[in-house]
Amino acid sequence: MRQISSDEVYALLPMADCIDVVEAAMIGVSNGEATLPLRSIMPLGGGNAMGIMPGGLADPHIHGIKLVSLYPDNPKHGLSSHQGVILLFDSRNGTAIAAVDGASVTAQRTAAASAAATRALSRPGSRVLAILGAGEQADHHLQAHLCVRPFDEVRVWTRTAANAQAFADRHGASIASLRAVATAEEAVSGADVIVTATASPTAILKGEWLVPGQHINLVGASVASVREIDDAGVARGRYFVDTLAGARVQAGEYIDALKAGAITEGHILGEIGKVYEGSLAGRLGDSDITIYKSLGVAAQDLATAYEIFRRAG
Ligand code: NDP
Repeated sequence: MRQISSDEVYALLPMADCIDVVEAAMIGVSNGEATLPLRSIMPLGGGNAMGIMPGGLADPHIHGIKLVSLYPDNPKHGLSSHQGVILLFDSRNGTAIAAVDGASVTAQRTAAASAAATRALSRPGSRVLAILGAGEQADHHLQAHLCVRPFDEVRVWTRTAANAQAFADRHGASIASLRAVATAEEAVSGADVIVTATASPTAILKGEWLVPGQHINLVGASVASVREIDDAGVARGRYFVDTLAGARVQAGEYIDALKAGAITEGHILGEIGKVYEGSLAGRLGDSDITIYKSLGVAAQDLATAYEIFRRAG
């Protein structure tokens, strides 16, 4: 069985390629070609948990599982909040073929999935990007977004001002204008694309701040008990999800807005894979606000890990 490290993950699958791999995987998901049991989360106490994400793909014909430790305080100690491993099996004979580093694949495939959604749903001339959150996902989302739209202005906000400044210092050279701002409202004001990549349990993005034409990727809230956008924001957007089955039970802002009567069940327009395939309309016009809700899908992990395995030779 091949073991693949995080260094190999980054070396073998550049972000631009990962975006295409994840987009293709999501088309397969929406066409019913993937087996995706609902993931489970095992609490470990102290706010930590283990995520268990099994799945199977038709093309490539593989199955496997991501086992991931979810330790939100890890970045304070210089470790990823998402460490783990993806075990890949050849579905033709059941042979275990690879164990791939889970932290790097999670970081890459999540940002790639958002960038694919941005490529499909944002206005083509989008040039101002707002990122809420300045952690590992924020880093990768900046890199991924620069692959799909001509962004020349990036604003970053996070709860701890020093971390926003550190993000700006880390990435300043990669973009004409990148600045840390003092409030989330300032970051998103008039931005073309907004990414929320925080571990906030409550809304940090408000509907009243949004303006026509914006595209939003909601990335940080992966379980039903948390959310990053308020009811008004959910209600204002054409709302697409990675999987319908997952979103109905785990998309916190959707579930809350439904309960509050701010939206109806039909508010979920469908899965992003259908948009990529061309069978579901995404953005209808320049004045639409579009939203992509990312919960994370094992198919993204498996497809990304397999492509890295294939390239590793
Ligand atoms: P990091 O720990 O590296 O960064 C977390 C970010 O969230 C920091 O900017 C931090 O702010 C901010 N934050 C933490 N707690 C709060 C709070 N209570 N209120 C406001 N902001 C807060 O995590 P990652 O970047 O790896 O992950 C970010 C989120 O994305 C997590 O919630 C994670 O579970 C989720 N995720 C989603 C995936 C998906 O597929 N959709 C996949 C992987 C992760 P500060 O600057 O103060 O530290």
